[in-house]
Amino acid sequence: MATDLNVGLFGGTFDPIHRGHLAVARAAQQRFALGTILFVPASIPPHKQAQPLTAYSHRYAMVSLATSGEKDFIPSDIESAEKLEGRPSYTIETVRRLKRQLKKADRLFFLIGMDAFADIAKWREPEALLRETDFIIMARPGYSLADVGASLPESLRPEPKIAKVLKHQPATGEIVLRGARLHLLADTHEKISATQIRAAARTGRKLDALVGAAVADYIRKTGIYKDPARTTARKKQTSQTNVVEMRRK
Ligand code: ATP
Repeated sequence: MATDLNVGLFGGTFDPIHRGHLAVARAAQQRFALGTILFVPASIPPHKQAQPLTAYSHRYAMVSLATSGEKDFIPSDIESAEKLEGRPSYTIETVRRLKRQLKKADRLFFLIGMDAFADIAKWREPEALLRETDFIIMARPGYSLADVGASLPESLRPEPKIAKVLKHQPATGEIVLRGARLHLLADTHEKISATQIRAAARTGRKLDALVGAAVADYIRKTGIYKDPARTTARKKQTSQTNVVEMRRK
């Protein structure tokens, strides 16, 4: 008989996917016994961006290459333009769609970096999203996991008294609030970002150490990051593409 499954959902622009993504996914897989992690590149941004994203087909191809050696890491096109019939990709809708495909007893974990979580309150239906899935929040340079509580939508924010206590605790472990289960992954330190990789690719630097050989090869052959307009730091998009957020460095 098939056993219940912990399923990870890792959304992002993945422009490109890099070793930082894979390192945190592996850490999350071990810590939370995730049987599968779905890597979900976001396709359609609802707002015009200052600089365009690399085509979905390239980003999806790189996700496929990067995950090919990992038997439990699966590329998912659940947010492709075809699947969404041209609509933007909102995480709450992706999560609901995915849950319809899972067994009732399966448990879904949404993987997200702290930089993206800092804006969760601006996402579509944030309270519903936080109710629908556990969150695994991963540390990123320049962000403190102690700010998790303050990032929540107002209705879920801990009272000031509790928030003060939380602030003085190490940012690790689990926070269970009314309607939210948040797990903090603090100890994976991969100071890699896609922004840094696009810049490195433009200047012809070797990328194997940042993205792995197959993705480095793909970037070199296709020349996708040769155009300077596409490779500078830009307004950030996650799978929650209704949010246009500036990265705080
Ligand atoms: P960019 O530099 O273009 O903003 P990125 O490196 O942040 O891109 P995304 O595709 O936007 O990559 O990231 C998808 C998700 O993975 C986000 O939730 C992000 O916070 C998280 N993430 C990306 N890189 C890391 C990393 N090195 N460690 C932990 N989480 C990460």
